[in-house]
Amino acid sequence: MSVPANSGTNGKGERSAAADKAWDVAIIGGGPAGLSASIWLARYLHTVLLVDSGDPRNWETRGVNGFLGHPGIRPAELRGLGRDEARKYGAELVDAVCDTVTQRNEDSFELVLADGATHRARRLLLAIGLKDVWPDIPGLEHVYGANAHVCPDCDGRECAKKKVVVIGKGRKAVGMALNLTTWTREIIICTNGEPAELDLPEYCRKLDALNIPVIEEPVTCVRHSGTHVHALDFAGGMSLDTDKIFLAIGQYPADDLGAQLGCERDAGGHIIVDDAYHTSVMNCFAAGDIVPGPQLAVAAAGDGAIAALAIHKSLVPDGRKLEKLETAEH
Ligand SMILES: Cc1cc2nc3c(=O)[nH]c(=O)nc-3n(C[C@H](O)[C@H](O)[C@H](O)COP(=O)(O)OP(=O)(O)OC[C@H]3O[C@@H](n4cnc5c(N)ncnc54)[C@H](O)[C@@H]3O)c2cc1C
Repeated sequence: MSVPANSGTNGKGERSAAADKAWDVAIIGGGPAGLSASIWLARYLHTVLLVDSGDPRNWETRGVNGFLGHPGIRPAELRGLGRDEARKYGAELVDAVCDTVTQRNEDSFELVLADGATHRARRLLLAIGLKDVWPDIPGLEHVYGANAHVCPDCDGRECAKKKVVVIGKGRKAVGMALNLTTWTREIIICTNGEPAELDLPEYCRKLDALNIPVIEEPVTCVRHSGTHVHALDFAGGMSLDTDKIFLAIGQYPADDLGAQLGCERDAGGHIIVDDAYHTSVMNCFAAGDIVPGPQLAVAAAGDGAIAALAIHKSLVPDGRKLEKLETAEH
């Protein structure tokens, strides 16, 4: 590995032998967040290692909506473009699972990959994303991504005036159903055999006002042809005509690397960050779906860029930066 001229320095502008052997930045996760960060960091001439296990959250979506300049681009194509661009600027891409990560000291993280390879880096960016909880309903796997979705912001527009079933319960399902009324008024909530958990009076009041019924029976299968949804069948024999399904069940971090490092997390497992995407662990950053906030590909790419700028700043020696002013001035 060749080390660019402005890397491998400590805060005082001196080179250390240890830093010479370490990457400036290791990024775990090669979705929009990690790839965007890798491009920006490589453009700053840092040595960048990006480790990706190739299992993104949006694996089955037919097209990414709302990504400026790339309407409906397939996730694999977007990643391919990002990977080519990252490589062009000199980032090293490794296709592997990162099993463990440890902070040796404030300026050194150690990554151990599934094949036993180890890497050290002065800064770490966790861009590992989330996973969605799936209900066990036969047929769902055939329509997921095309006509079964998890995000109204991403796919609500395609539901205009269609029959939509929200699968879920409690606040999540009610919130999603209300959100979908922007595009359609033919909405039913199915709890798939679970109690509806409509414990706040507001939930029933708003669902009633908008004519959104709630069915608690278990769903036995999705009737479909190819990726088109026709109906949901229920355990009691009822069948419900449906065009679109939205899952409002839950999510969890794609990996426990944030927990391994002791990063502060919220109740949903998201890694808490500040405005510069710095976590509670010194020199460890996080970006994309794994941090609280909107879950959009374009937002993840933006997070990655902002994190990259902050990481770069943290690697620039003090002699090349102005000291902070007491007053708030940018
Ligand atoms: C069905 C669906 C449809 C969507 N549609 C849209 C849409 O139309 N428009 C939109 O803007 N957004 C959409 N989204 C949201 C969008 O996909 C996410 O916001 C975006 O992918 C988040 O990017 P990310 O980089 O944070 O995570 P991801 O894209 O999930 O990438 C995380 C990467 O980290 C890797 N990883 C995890 N753990 C490890 C590990 N231990 N070692 C190595 N690698 C690891 C994974 O393999 C993965 O490649 C959709 C999401 C879903 C699920």
